[in-house]
Amino acid sequence: KKILVTGGSGQLGQCLKKISKDFSQFEFAFTDSNTLDITNATQVQDYFSDFKPDFCVNAAAYTAVDLAEKESELAFRINAEGVSNLAKACSEIGAVLVQISTDYVFDGETNLPYDEEDFTNPQGVYGKSKREGEILALEENPKTVVIRTSWLYSEFSKNFVKTMLTLFAQKEILGIVNDQFGQPTNANDLAQAIMKIILSENIEPGILHFSNYPETTWFHFAQKIAEYSKSKIKLNPITTSEFPTPAKRPARSTMCLDKIEKDYDIELKHWENSLEE
Ligand code: NDP
Repeated sequence: KKILVTGGSGQLGQCLKKISKDFSQFEFAFTDSNTLDITNATQVQDYFSDFKPDFCVNAAAYTAVDLAEKESELAFRINAEGVSNLAKACSEIGAVLVQISTDYVFDGETNLPYDEEDFTNPQGVYGKSKREGEILALEENPKTVVIRTSWLYSEFSKNFVKTMLTLFAQKEILGIVNDQFGQPTNANDLAQAIMKIILSENIEPGILHFSNYPETTWFHFAQKIAEYSKSKIKLNPITTSEFPTPAKRPARSTMCLDKIEKDYDIELKHWENSLEE
């Protein structure tokens, strides 16, 4: 069987590429915005009629949460229209679409921890565009699995852990937000979970939540990163109002992970364990 990974040059895409050699029963194709622009419907159709994937993992996205407030049109073009192009192409050939989404579809004010059916109310343009992508992915392809994840980090691309390590080397003291709660997730663990779902015989269409656990704040997460990297940095807890950003983020977007654990027998991991590596 064949797996197409769009966004192959991104953080999750690179994690999937790294483990693809352990799944030699599949033929993989990894694309980026140069080799397959998901916003170009004709290009998507041509690619699908040629490669005919059985699974498409869409790891391609507009991920600049703050910049999205200014570039709304582009964010929606990639995170909604682009997803729709992939969903339609999957539907035509009966392929499964694994669409990656985010905890930022929630407002962070109610019903914690969020389960898959909870009310969504994205606060910023990025979250809104990702929610629109979820809806289109599910509506336009009967075989879509949406996986919402949160606070991704890994050895690849730009992410919070890497930003902290750079700042720790440059500064002696640093204020980190301590009133936003979420669950950090090693993108390598997400990649393994995606492969486990693909390998399962019975893929149920719908939404799943996957992250590492338990919930923490950016400040506490940064403290652990400092500890593991043996940094001498002095970290201060600050509030969101002391560190204003263009995009509003949910104050607490912790997701319930029971469904993916039960339905696909996926082992949940403490985020601190993967920080050690
Ligand atoms: P990255 O920003 O690291 O990678 C984004 C990828 O999307 C790149 O490969 C980029 O390709 C590709 N891309 C952008 N525009 C297009 C386009 N028009 N056509 C084709 N490809 C395009 O993202 P992550 O790996 O961090 O995120 C993976 C998924 O997880 C995304 O859906 C994201 O929304 C979601 N997510 C991420 C979180 C995080 O903390 N990072 C948290 C929660 C969810 P190129 O290199 O060519 O530009």
